[in-house]
Amino acid sequence: MTYVVLLGGPGAGKGTQAQLLEAALGLPQIATGDLFREHFRNDTELGRVARSYTDLGELVPDEVTIAMVKERLAQPDAAKGALLDGFPRTIAQADALAELLADASINLDIVPYIHVRPEYLLQRLAGRWTCAACGHVYHEPFSPPKQFGTCDKDGSNLYQRNDDTEETRKHRIEVYFRQTSPLLDYYRERGLLVEINGEQSIEQVQRDLIEAIKKVA
Ligand code: ADP
Ligand code: AMP
Repeated sequence: MTYVVLLGGPGAGKGTQAQLLEAALGLPQIATGDLFREHFRNDTELGRVARSYTDLGELVPDEVTIAMVKERLAQPDAAKGALLDGFPRTIAQADALAELLADASINLDIVPYIHVRPEYLLQRLAGRWTCAACGHVYHEPFSPPKQFGTCDKDGSNLYQRNDDTEETRKHRIEVYFRQTSPLLDYYRERGLLVEINGEQSIEQVQRDLIEAIKKVA
């Protein structure tokens, strides 16, 4: 059982790395942003509530987010461990996660912090393209698909997220510094934080992450 929380600003590469780690370590990626986007597609009530926040680059309220994660962690595939991507994003969410795991007698193993400076975060968000079918993430020009606008894996269309617009991406980075960056000290104090240089190639970041996780898992 290995439970990992991936921390980092918007665009740091959490999703990119979690998708690769999922394959490398056989652990499910639990990405709250993806869960919300699935709710939008299914036009659920939770999706409609969440959308009014995500479109503005604000955080969805803790109660809504925590309840959704609680349900997801209760699925059978999460019993062997999980890669949490984009959760927690507030101290209240981190406390709730600690309680959820403690109730199940589970320890959080490691919190890798993928560090990328803000000016690079902006570039990452500006060039992000996502596959509408499989969710694979590309970047123009850092990690482009073979054919512009088309997923290498399944040939589906790529789209740009509507919260990656110029105004919203700046705001999301501000929200990250205000509400999420206090988690760095939170997990440092608990001896779980490991800093990873996120400004290296995708492959090198992946190698550093696997090395750090294998030390504790
Ligand atoms: P997050 O999940 O942290 O918001 P993503 O994984 O979606 O970030 O990555 C944001 C963008 O940056 C994507 O377009 C991705 O292809 C690109 N990217 C991720 N890691 C790197 C890297 N190490 N170098 C260059 N571009 C990267
Ligand atoms: P992401 O895909 O991680 O960039 O998340 C997209 C958006 O979903 C964020 O800008 C928030 O509006 C919302 N969101 C994702 N995770 C959380 C969370 N843990 N708490 C609150 N809002 C979240």
